[in-house]
Amino acid sequence: MSNRANYEAFYRRSITDREGFWREQAALIDWHQPFDSVLDYNRPPFAKWFVNGLTNICYNAIDRHLAARGEQAAVIWVSTEVDRVEEISYRQLYQRVNAMASLLVEMGITKGDRVLIYLPMIPEAIIAMYACTRIGAVHSVVFGGFASGALASRIDDAAPKLIITADAGMRGGKVTDYKSLLRDGLAAITVEAPKVLVINRHLTTTPCPLPGEVDFAEAVVRHVGKEVPPVWVESSHPSYILYTSGTTGRPKGVQRDTGGYAVAMRASMRHIYGVEPGDVMFTGSDVGWVVGHSYIVYAPLLTGATTILYEGLPIRPDPGVWWSLVAKYHAKCMFTSPTAIRLLKKTGVEWIRKYDLSCLRTLFLAGEPLDKETHRWVSEALHGSVVDNYWQTETGWPILTNFAGLGLLDLKFGSPTVPAYGYETLLMDEHTGEKVGANAKGSLMIKPPLPPGCMTTVWGDDARFVETYFSRFKELYYATFDYAMVDDDGYYFIMGRDDDVINVAGHRLGTREVEEALCTHPSVAEAAAVGIKDDLKGQEIEAFVVLMSNVVPPSEDELKNVVVRQIGGIAKPKFLHIVTALPKTRSGKVIRRAILAIAEGRDPGDLPTIEDAKTLDIIRDAVHLR
Ligand code: AMP
Repeated sequence: MSNRANYEAFYRRSITDREGFWREQAALIDWHQPFDSVLDYNRPPFAKWFVNGLTNICYNAIDRHLAARGEQAAVIWVSTEVDRVEEISYRQLYQRVNAMASLLVEMGITKGDRVLIYLPMIPEAIIAMYACTRIGAVHSVVFGGFASGALASRIDDAAPKLIITADAGMRGGKVTDYKSLLRDGLAAITVEAPKVLVINRHLTTTPCPLPGEVDFAEAVVRHVGKEVPPVWVESSHPSYILYTSGTTGRPKGVQRDTGGYAVAMRASMRHIYGVEPGDVMFTGSDVGWVVGHSYIVYAPLLTGATTILYEGLPIRPDPGVWWSLVAKYHAKCMFTSPTAIRLLKKTGVEWIRKYDLSCLRTLFLAGEPLDKETHRWVSEALHGSVVDNYWQTETGWPILTNFAGLGLLDLKFGSPTVPAYGYETLLMDEHTGEKVGANAKGSLMIKPPLPPGCMTTVWGDDARFVETYFSRFKELYYATFDYAMVDDDGYYFIMGRDDDVINVAGHRLGTREVEEALCTHPSVAEAAAVGIKDDLKGQEIEAFVVLMSNVVPPSEDELKNVVVRQIGGIAKPKFLHIVTALPKTRSGKVIRRAILAIAEGRDPGDLPTIEDAKTLDIIRDAVHLR
């Protein structure tokens, strides 16, 4: 059978015999108690997978492999920031996770409690995540690049009982003091203050004691050698919450289940990534993002593979560092973002050619559009398969992809290929709500139930889940908020977001978040942020700020730094302009579309609802002064 025919049969079965298909996939993990039925979809759009099955992710990712691969490396930590390498076998990981789990139990953490993890790329990040899932606690990892405002809003929403953090992280040799960011975050919360557990890396010289903090190294000593039995949880029990940005300023807590996620992760390694027990996978991302959760932490270990955890920049000490790791550890599969590859592309192909990369079967890229040029360049440089895969924090694994495991389909540059098994995708005309045919642009929708592994709800807010994702058209379809097109061969092309989300280097940010951060400055009356095209990062932020009357104008840098302090360096606007007015509709809504067009040098087109057309000239003048 050709790869195409094989894929089509596999895909078709996942839709027409959904229960039979997923029952088979569910056998890829261990169940403490078998499930009664594969799917409960009595309350659309809420799907419950593997009903009444009992399992545990940590058990499946660690304990299950001890007999056959206890001495195999589970995690290889490489830090070019502190110049260290640590190989942690499955047995050692088991011991360290158990010790931390035992400490968490002693600190009063039980099933269902939330634990916020705010850590750099160190082994303890993975250990903490598994210590939580081992005891049924729900972790919420906050990306280490986020600052105090982003931390506070996540703490308020998740109401964690405990925060696990470190004294500091390092990036490009520069120390970021995590504890002072956390201190400022804690000062702004409205919920009860959580306990704090600190992993001290001795990287900062400015001590910042937090009230009641517990030092991990001191406290864990008493727990070394202890074993904590895995808490068997229902398949639908939340494994974690991961916050992501949308149209409103308030981040949404994407809630994931346990059984569905474990099955989806393991199945994706087999069918999509082509990774099997004993293989090595290197994902150059961060544990704070969904790619890190799924393809650094969970999927590789659920598979019995080895995961490489890398702390540092891809170009330091030199731009060959990532390829040197692939060659040294014989990674079969690598995963990173298009931005990282564009960065490496600038440094020249010789850094790739320097290494014997014959071990590398497939490079996967996701998180933002992969331009044809970069796709072609990296495919030629590697003499190998480079797979563009499209998905979201919400889904946890690819919606559109090619399949290293099932057999690669022909490649088309610019296309993340075809729908993954389990996803019934369709395109709808955003104005008429009718289905769109081949070669026409439409809103990319998924017909529910969403497959296993996808978000099950918005944390603490079922209504928001339905309103946000399932209310676009009269049918109960899941909205991805991306435009797409399908060609005559059934290949998908992603054509950008249809909402106010900016994607900077694969990092998703809401325009509202940036605007709200700017508005925390006492001199700012209102702000508008747009994502302008950028050759390296895909998009960059350009912000326009209107000041209160009679204030001394702050400098542009001061305003940019407000965003850095509130959200983090990833959200720092590349350009910021102080203007006297913003283009608005007669009903007072900022017309970001027009601002973006001007900022990108395009004609904003007809704007029949604009209140004052002169405001467009104000934006034009500001942009000219860049
Ligand atoms: P996040 O939830 O941060 O992973 O962001 C998801 C969004 O990133 C998607 O809705 C898309 O807008 C964009 N995205 C992710 N992967 C791709 C891809 N392969 N091609 C184009 N856009 C992508």
